[in-house]
Amino acid sequence: MPFPDDQALPAAAEWPDSDQGGSGNGTSARPATSARPVQTSTPEPHAGATPGRDGRLPPRTPRILHLDVDAFLASVEQALHPKLRGQPVIVGGLPHERNLVMSCSYEARAMGVRPGMRLAEAARVCPRGVFRRGDSQAAAGVRARIAVQLAALSPCVEVASIDDFFVDLAGTLRAIGPAFEAAEKVREKIRAEVEVPVTIGIATTKSLARIAGKLAKPGGIAEILPGHERAFLHHLPLEHLPGAGGRLGTELLRLGLRTAGDLTLVPREVLWTTFGHAGLALQARALGHDDDAVEPSWTCLADGTRVERPPRTLRRDSTFEPEEGRRDIVEAMLAYLVERAAHRLREWRIVARGLVVRLQHVDTRLRGGHAEDAHNLAEARAKLSPPNSSTDALSRQAMALLRSLPRRRALVKRVGLELTGLERQHVRQGLLFDPGPTDAPTETATQAVDPTPEAGGTREDRQRRLDEALDRLRQRHGFGGVLRGSSWLLAEGRERTRDGFVLRTPSLNQ
Ligand SMILES: [Mg+2]
Repeated sequence: MPFPDDQALPAAAEWPDSDQGGSGNGTSARPATSARPVQTSTPEPHAGATPGRDGRLPPRTPRILHLDVDAFLASVEQALHPKLRGQPVIVGGLPHERNLVMSCSYEARAMGVRPGMRLAEAARVCPRGVFRRGDSQAAAGVRARIAVQLAALSPCVEVASIDDFFVDLAGTLRAIGPAFEAAEKVREKIRAEVEVPVTIGIATTKSLARIAGKLAKPGGIAEILPGHERAFLHHLPLEHLPGAGGRLGTELLRLGLRTAGDLTLVPREVLWTTFGHAGLALQARALGHDDDAVEPSWTCLADGTRVERPPRTLRRDSTFEPEEGRRDIVEAMLAYLVERAAHRLREWRIVARGLVVRLQHVDTRLRGGHAEDAHNLAEARAKLSPPNSSTDALSRQAMALLRSLPRRRALVKRVGLELTGLERQHVRQGLLFDPGPTDAPTETATQAVDPTPEAGGTREDRQRRLDEALDRLRQRHGFGGVLRGSSWLLAEGRERTRDGFVLRTPSLNQ
């Protein structure tokens, strides 16, 4: 397959051969990586409040900005504790714990620490490292504050994960000016107000914006100019394409394919027979094909208020440190996680259609290796009918799933749940007949704490009133202000704050 742009590669194509670290300190307004393609192919921006360089682009040219927080959890720690700035911060746990590094500051990276490394190994290569457990509540706060800053650029902001965002800049030229200058301003604003370093990539598609940002890390801004995508990709080392890591990347290298441009020359039939779908998908990426639109994480109501779009799945996990042998503690932890997740669902006014419970054991006979890890992880899933957000209904289903998992004579490392098929709550369909008490002992316990014990109704009605009452109490006193009997066992030996128990490796998904 010929490569159409081969004859007339613009100067921008020389970009990715060096300087991939970006501006380094992140203080320069235009890091080297982004300056070259910007300046080699377009004139300088006009002075004054004109649309500048982007004003010459054809109307409706897509402009997508990707923003990623550098070393997210470590940066959050440094923002919370200014004395940690400039220090090698390692997030994941304490050095003696059997966990992995979740995030590490660039100072720690310079010493050889990498995310995914064992904590003990990190302590060995970086003896001066400051080890922290990480603070997911603070991280969620930082994410929300960044989202607010980005919403000033465009109404179409997608929160893609805990630390990265997409902004669709189409049609914003008159309001905010050229994309690159808007990116510079928002980077400075986030640095000043949220106090975390960010990297920004700008391009015509989401995947190219993400790639551009990766090349500008840490702290830089990189832009792939519209019309120069093919030229940019032609010389891009293959490892920068998402999906070209691991075994597939190694195989492609072995075949002598070093750049995304090389991959575009391989006939589709060859890729299909050798690598299947993964090969074809990678080639599409190498050609710059990407129709993925920015999906706004908020919708604007008629009265102008913004409502956050709920996530598609919600996950809650906790790791036991040390590993847990008592079954009742594991059940209490699952009950607590279910309660947190159900509370969140009701906050969003959404319901779940499915539930997955996961349980991971420690195998003391075998150590390390992914095959054993997979073997130690058991999961069970169920459909929820009707879809709902009741703590009671979700807890009973979660407990039934946990008990359905094969029992093993091993300590439990981690327990967690995932709520799937999340959707807006429709008008509640009442039951024509009261099905009567389904579970006598729980029924009595429920009535004892029911805020309106004289009010009758179905079990479902009573549980709904109980959920509402607890949600109101928690709005006033924080989630940790109220503890249900089902998670009472956790109170012993666990730190509890206004936000609830301080858990190990709390899930970062929403
Ligand atoms: Mg990041």
